[in-house]
Amino acid sequence: MALTGRELEEAIRQGLLPIEKALKRNAKASEALLDIAKQEMVQLEIEAGPPICPHCGVLNPTVYMEAEAGSGPVNEIVFKFEMHCCNGTVYGIPEGWAMAMSSEEAADIIKQRAGVTNERRG
Ligand SMILES: [Zn+2]
Repeated sequence: MALTGRELEEAIRQGLLPIEKALKRNAKASEALLDIAKQEMVQLEIEAGPPICPHCGVLNPTVYMEAEAGSGPVNEIVFKFEMHCCNGTVYGIPEGWAMAMSSEEAADIIKQRAGVTNERRG
């Protein structure tokens, strides 16, 4: 069966509609991926490392912390430290958590971590 020019035009338009929709979806997905990539680049710039005083460079410095009471998501917590090494103020942002059910379990985790650190040094 032969199509008139107009029918042919309509058939092409109908055929292109899903392609147009797919392209729009693809563009949205690309924008979302770009946003994720931008966020990851920011995260790379602030990559976590060992606890070093940013003022004087002391590794694992002793700190004084006066905790402020308050509520909020645990992954947005910031610790304000007064440094014993140089009296500077530092804002510590934890990168990852070991969550314990008791203070004893927490102490065990810290002991294990200290053991691992000492093994690496030794
Ligand atoms: Zn310091």
